[in-house]
Amino acid sequence: MDYNYHTHTYLCSHATGEIEDYIKTAIENGIKYMGFSEHFPLRFENGVQSGYRLMVEDVDFYFSTLYGLREKYKDKIDIKIGFEMEYYPALFDEMVNNAKKYGGEYLILGQHFPSPEYLKSSKYVIIPEESANALEDYVSGVVEGIKSGVFTYVAHPDILNFVGDKDLYRESFVKICEASKEYNVPLEINFFGIRDNRNYPDMRFVELLGETKAPVTFGFDSHTVKDAFDGNSLKIAKEWVEKYKLNYIGKPNIIEL
Ligand SMILES: [Zn+2]
Ligand SMILES: [Zn+2]
Repeated sequence: MDYNYHTHTYLCSHATGEIEDYIKTAIENGIKYMGFSEHFPLRFENGVQSGYRLMVEDVDFYFSTLYGLREKYKDKIDIKIGFEMEYYPALFDEMVNNAKKYGGEYLILGQHFPSPEYLKSSKYVIIPEESANALEDYVSGVVEGIKSGVFTYVAHPDILNFVGDKDLYRESFVKICEASKEYNVPLEINFFGIRDNRNYPDMRFVELLGETKAPVTFGFDSHTVKDAFDGNSLKIAKEWVEKYKLNYIGKPNIIEL
């Protein structure tokens, strides 16, 4: 594995370490193509900014720091600078326009809330969820995001911790696999979920990936310097590729913004 397009920085306030050290770790472990995908900054109508993301005030710093490091290490590694972003229908056009305006070079879709986080009813995706409505909201958000054509791939497509009806899980998540195939937008095996023993990757979903042959890619989802390479999770993910006969495509094709 010589690529990783899923990297965070301390600027989202829930990751740690010097940005340059992430790059050094990646290079030392043979990564040739690296993408920074910080959580997209979002200011809501009331002026409040979402707290788990890059702040609007830090956007210039994010890009200027990475421009400098990209230049410094250009002979060793190819660096792209983008965002991990939700699909929120009411805000989406504005979000994509802002991503371009800020200088974003690519986007990965990370749907962290079934319904937009600024709504009172909103709940973080990894909190166990039984509601069929939340499942439907989550899946339709991801499918619409895939159809939008702006995302290079879908990060942790199986992040929703759905604990309700099993058949409903299958018939809902298969829609994400089918959209991924139809629009040729790969689905990520998320290594943060593997190394942190989270509810994702969800093995029910990994099975669906094998059955549908949707295109699959890998992402470290690095939040620490050490995780700018994750060989342990890579070994597990490779075993799944064999066992479940996944359509692993390797490095994703970058959709330039
Ligand atoms: Zn994410
Ligand atoms: Zn992430």
